[in-house]
Amino acid sequence: MPKTLAIIKPDAVKKNVIGKIITRIEDEGFKIAAMRQMRLSADEAKAFYIVHKAKPFFQGLSAFMSSGPIVVLMLERDDAITRWRDVMGATDPAKAAPGTLRHSFGFDIERNAVHGSDAAETAEWELNFFFKS
Ligand code: GDP
Repeated sequence: MPKTLAIIKPDAVKKNVIGKIITRIEDEGFKIAAMRQMRLSADEAKAFYIVHKAKPFFQGLSAFMSSGPIVVLMLERDDAITRWRDVMGATDPAKAAPGTLRHSFGFDIERNAVHGSDAAETAEWELNFFFKS
């Protein structure tokens, strides 16, 4: 079964909406194959977002992602990557469609509540980052 990595980001954990997001995940037909609450160090956040190293928002993003606990999830369903990105909505909550998680729970383009892998190779790399064993 195809898998993707989802993250409930520090802004959403702080907002107390872990349960609402997990309910949505289940309602959308995903199976939660693994799940863990943890906190990234600044260096771990930078390592996870290494693909964005050259972007102007890299430092801010790494600081944000290590600012508090996150919940990382291994999600399974058919077409998992695309389906999860549809449920998340556009990167910028202001542009995300009504009903998407980023529209409902995101604050701005950085603090946008959830993460999802964007391609099969990325999903494999990201799942391995958090769920090595
Ligand atoms: P995603 O695949 O929709 O998460 O978007 P990207 O891969 O382009 O960016 C990764 C993450 O970096 C996003 O989810 C945001 O948290 C953050 N981000 C993206 N673009 C910007 C930006 O222009 N400014 C800031 N501050 N953060 C951004």
